Amino acid sequence: MSTSQMPRTVASQITNLPPTAELQARDARHHLHPFTHAAGLAEKGARIITRAEGCWLTDSEGNTILDAMAGLWCVNVGYGRQELVEAAARQMAELPFYNTFFQTTHVPAIELSERLAELAPEHMNRVFFAGSGSEANDTNIRMVRTYWDLKGQPERVNIISRWNAYHGSSVGSGSLGGMKGMHAQGGMPIPGIHHIDQPNWWAEGGDMSPEDFGRARAQALEEKILELGPDTVAAFIAEPVQGAGGVIVPPESYWPEVSRIVEKYGILLIADEVICGFGRTGNWFGSETMGIRPDIMTIAKGLSSGYQPIGGSIVSDEVAEVIGGAEFNHGYTYSGHPVACAVALENLRILDEEGIVTRVRTETGPYLKQKFESLTEHPLVGEAKIVGMMGSIALTPDKASRAAFAADAGTVGYLCRERCFANNLVMRHVGDRMIVSPPLVISKAEIDTLIERAWRSLDEAMAEAE
Ligand code: PLP
Repeated sequence: MSTSQMPRTVASQITNLPPTAELQARDARHHLHPFTHAAGLAEKGARIITRAEGCWLTDSEGNTILDAMAGLWCVNVGYGRQELVEAAARQMAELPFYNTFFQTTHVPAIELSERLAELAPEHMNRVFFAGSGSEANDTNIRMVRTYWDLKGQPERVNIISRWNAYHGSSVGSGSLGGMKGMHAQGGMPIPGIHHIDQPNWWAEGGDMSPEDFGRARAQALEEKILELGPDTVAAFIAEPVQGAGGVIVPPESYWPEVSRIVEKYGILLIADEVICGFGRTGNWFGSETMGIRPDIMTIAKGLSSGYQPIGGSIVSDEVAEVIGGAEFNHGYTYSGHPVACAVALENLRILDEEGIVTRVRTETGPYLKQKFESLTEHPLVGEAKIVGMMGSIALTPDKASRAAFAADAGTVGYLCRERCFANNLVMRHVGDRMIVSPPLVISKAEIDTLIERAWRSLDEAMAEAE
């Protein structure tokens, strides 16, 4: 798109943009960033993104950067979709806000909940809205405990999750998550949340085969249930494929065994679909891809492709019926925000009518998989794992033993991410795993560019680490 074609406000913002260094200094003076070491950032200066189109970001220095992370795993339909701008503008003009508390509703909330019920598995037909994935998981903590209370089993309060899971950053959802660095700050986890080990065969599988290891890690759930007492356990929560923990794709034996165990003990299964939902794994929900039958699904991110902040919990008929037996004293001002609902609805229309989810499953997903797996030919790369459009590579000094780099070199992943930035590619690193999660509209030519830049960045990181 030439500058003359850009919407006037955007073009004028770019023309009048103050120098990068000035913006960085102002940012460092007043803006505290999430998941950031502020002093380190002040020294370096934040990268300033000014606009975006399709899969491409533009920064304040005029660089165009391939965004292989879809923002934060969320811009599923890509940037610059005018239909979403118009849906927001129309809804703002009509009804910019009204709440859904106290027996009130509005058309966008009605239509979006109806559409989500159509897309969700057949037994899930109700939605509780929130403003984010974190809020939705906080809702889930209260919902599952209230469910058991209303069923006359108030002692069922324990929720089991996994180390290295990510379920959000509020005190409740951060407790559900298994990020030890987060738990170390601010008094988490809250009582009643328990963690078991993750199915990360590459890092933790030792001499076991992936399938034996997957089964063993699933059986850790049964051991934890027995340790806590089966009558005290309310729910198990997990991402169908762990995202922020490093895109950990579980061995095929894992989910069938987990499903057997949750069914045996009658505990609720919460599938956190915040990343996996809305096409990321090649189906509408990761639960479908992994063959899971959840009682609750957490949604956010791809629900609106990040154009508006919105999240929610899609709930089974059984859970909804029990919860509906009393007043649920819970809700957010922005639960079912009309503008967010209108944008989400339009986003779901685009994903559906443009066949984007199907294309990920049958065309661009398999193409990305083939190219992404070819990265294992690079000397630094031990394994490449990918489902649909979420994948990761493990960096290693020795492929045969699946060795990790020395702890103080957590830095090889960091080096690699920095080289990606320098090569105008956004990839993320979690320790020594490098992640991709591009917009679902990425083309085959853009996938080629992604792989070529990733390879170059790996080469440069290897040279720098030596
Ligand atoms: N659940 C998962 C699986 C996530 O990846 C995230 C965010 O990355 C969340 C929940 C939290 O969502 P939010 O950042 O919208 O609160």
